Amino acid sequence: MEKYLHLLPKIVANSSKEQFGDRNYIGASDVVKCERKFLLEKRNPIEIDPQTAIKLLRGKLAEQMAEELYSAAGKQYEKQVHIKHPLKEHIRATVDLLFKGKKVVGIAEIKSVDVNNLPAPYVSWVEQINFQMGLYKLNNPQMKVMGKIVVINLNSGFTKEFEVDFNEDLFHSLLEKAERLWNKWQNGGEGKAEPSLLCSHCPYKAECPVFKGDGGKEIPEDLLFKAVEYREIKKQISQLEDQAEEIKNEIIAFTGDNFEYTDELVSLKVSRVADLYVLDSQALKKQMPDVYNQFLKPKKGYVKLVIE
Ligand code: SF4
Repeated sequence: MEKYLHLLPKIVANSSKEQFGDRNYIGASDVVKCERKFLLEKRNPIEIDPQTAIKLLRGKLAEQMAEELYSAAGKQYEKQVHIKHPLKEHIRATVDLLFKGKKVVGIAEIKSVDVNNLPAPYVSWVEQINFQMGLYKLNNPQMKVMGKIVVINLNSGFTKEFEVDFNEDLFHSLLEKAERLWNKWQNGGEGKAEPSLLCSHCPYKAECPVFKGDGGKEIPEDLLFKAVEYREIKKQISQLEDQAEEIKNEIIAFTGDNFEYTDELVSLKVSRVADLYVLDSQALKKQMPDVYNQFLKPKKGYVKLVIE
């Protein structure tokens, strides 16, 4: 099958064309994009690679799974509902699942993820669903609109749901952005680089002013939260290591340094590791630099991350 993988991007592009046509409009997924990336995609499209195509197909699978679950639970819904701005043909959104009541309508956005822990939804997801909710409300002002982001990791089975309240101010700022994108796309104009977590997958990153030179000084809010989360997890690991060391010392205080025990709950082996002699590389380097240099071997560098 591997030799056919290069066909995947075409398959994804054709299915998107079938579903959304030529996309000659600004949709909810466009309005959350970086302006520079959006305009470059329109002006200099780059075909996605097979790996990205697989990720997009995974998104489709997650949607299908959610649809089947809601059907099995007897819920009534419409899928892939296209909504247009009542006055502006070029502003639209497609809702994954729409649950219609008499006075309340529920909009669900399904997301496939790789992670198994997500304390909060990504900013771009909240913006995307707000845009959908806002367009629905413009067409149906009498209805109350509720939003839900359903997150599924198809590999691990991790799922999570986030309720999203409609935010009128956010919607209006997104509408302004949609107009700005449309005008620049139609009439020309530079796209502003708007960094976000999505930069990691951006094919225009190499030439992006945010990442050129010294690597940029701005980081998006999502990434800031990730950095804080990373720091907290590292702290927890260090605390857990200290706890584990204390417990280990308590066990050894009981068993001594030569002990074995096994039952259905636990297998425990304690043994002494003999004293070792290790090479004092600093002393060798100082006293016999020629020998030291003779036995140096290359070690691959890596990216170091320090967050305090
Ligand atoms: S790297 Fe980020 S900021 Fe730069 S164009 Fe791509 S999405 Fe925009």
